[in-house]
Amino acid sequence: SQRIKIKALLQSGETGIDVTVKGWVRAFRQNRFIALNDGSTNATLQIVVDFENTDPTLLKSITVGAAISVTGKLAASLGQGQTVEVIASTIEVLGDCDPDKYPLQLKNRPSLEYLREIAHLRFRTNTFGAIFRVRNTLSFAIHKFFNEKGFVYLHTPVITASDAEGAGEAFHVTNFDLANVPRTESGEVDYSKDFFGRSTNLTVSGQLEGELGAMALSDIYTFGPTFRAENSNTTRHLAEFWMIEPEMAFYELKDNADLAEELLKYVISYALEQNQEDLQFLNQRLLDEEKQKPQNERSELALLDKLQFCLANDFERLTYTEAIEILRESTPNKKKKFQFPVEGWGTDLQSEHERYLVEKHFKKPVILTDYPKEIKSFYMRQNDDGKTVAAMDILFPGIGEIVGGSQREERLDKLETRMDELGIPKDELWWYLDTRRFGSCPHAGFGLGFERLVLFVTGMGNIRDVIPFPRFPKNAEF
Ligand code: ATP
Ligand code: MG
Ligand code: MG
Ligand code: MG
Repeated sequence: SQRIKIKALLQSGETGIDVTVKGWVRAFRQNRFIALNDGSTNATLQIVVDFENTDPTLLKSITVGAAISVTGKLAASLGQGQTVEVIASTIEVLGDCDPDKYPLQLKNRPSLEYLREIAHLRFRTNTFGAIFRVRNTLSFAIHKFFNEKGFVYLHTPVITASDAEGAGEAFHVTNFDLANVPRTESGEVDYSKDFFGRSTNLTVSGQLEGELGAMALSDIYTFGPTFRAENSNTTRHLAEFWMIEPEMAFYELKDNADLAEELLKYVISYALEQNQEDLQFLNQRLLDEEKQKPQNERSELALLDKLQFCLANDFERLTYTEAIEILRESTPNKKKKFQFPVEGWGTDLQSEHERYLVEKHFKKPVILTDYPKEIKSFYMRQNDDGKTVAAMDILFPGIGEIVGGSQREERLDKLETRMDELGIPKDELWWYLDTRRFGSCPHAGFGLGFERLVLFVTGMGNIRDVIPFPRFPKNAEF
């Protein structure tokens, strides 16, 4: 029979009708009240069991974690905090759950570390239910935003021959029998015998392909999985993450920054509207966590305030050069200096510097522009000063870099010279250079790390907790 989702049922508040609900048992009190959850909300539906007229073996198999189907009448509930309950007429256990073996039987709230080890089951906790519903909303909001603006969702390839940044972080793709790799006479791996007749890898960014689309469709975006063999075991990096990469023709750097700011505010505000209950829950979770910390380490703003604050304020915009000046004159607090002193103009900022600017100095999101060309990619548009490029990074409180983007170099001669300087083979990117030969135009784009966005909106501390199946070094079991 059809089932009704618990969220819809609680919202409608209707009574007197017969319903069938299906879900998993969260608790069974006094052999009389089942708290049922089906993942549509963190709230549980109370099922009232007529225990005197119910088979004792059936009662025994209604344990925490068991999947059940219940048919019965909806009645107004006298219990606190719930509108309706179901007076069960039939209960069927669809899948039982051994209480002695079930890892989520624990009375105490299991730690996030422990839940990471049982990531296949953690979906069943309130915390992860809330996180993945918020993640879903954010992903929907991203498509909605771009669709309303007339962008084309362009699917860029997962398997590619270009490793965009050449940072050596790409995962190779091959169908060679690794025990018997073909080699040339000089002993090198013979990629011409590989599946694609060349060396290929998983995409580290869809940007270069995205630019090809923008040079005809004007405004495109990709939103797909991205792979980087990052060595770092940080709370901000995954080996597989999702990236949103819009690319716009006839855009300059300021248009690019405006679009990114508008997108971020749009999706955050959409989540606040659509996921009130889940965000309230995550807010409370964080407050409870903060209470465990000493007073001076507690964060100043609760999650919901932080999100509202982000919506209410213009992001601070300044150049890299201005940021370096600020950082040189700053120390994070009276006692502690930066762990990595600001070396001076020309070096990349460490995440502690980024977070200082956002969290201590400006106390709001920051858009940093015009970075030294030496620390940015070859395709970024060179500024007239000869030293900087039209790059932008957006920095968020608690996160650091959430967006990286730039105006692209549309002038063929400048682009080729820069590629030569950096030793990037022009013949391999002939197709990319063609866009600069045939109707080139100013254009710009950026990459928004989806998990970093989810991290910010949910207030979680570790990126591994905001993706259903985290991929990081030595971890790909399920
Ligand atoms: P970072 O400096 O944090 O390593 P990046 O500058 O290498 O990031 P970009 O190449 O600019 O990253 O990618 C665009 C965006 O993708 C970043 O701003 C970030 O939000 C996200 N991102 C990059 N690498 C990762 C990763 N390994 N895991 C999750 N998100 C990532
Ligand atoms: Mg990186
Ligand atoms: Mg970076
Ligand atoms: Mg970047």
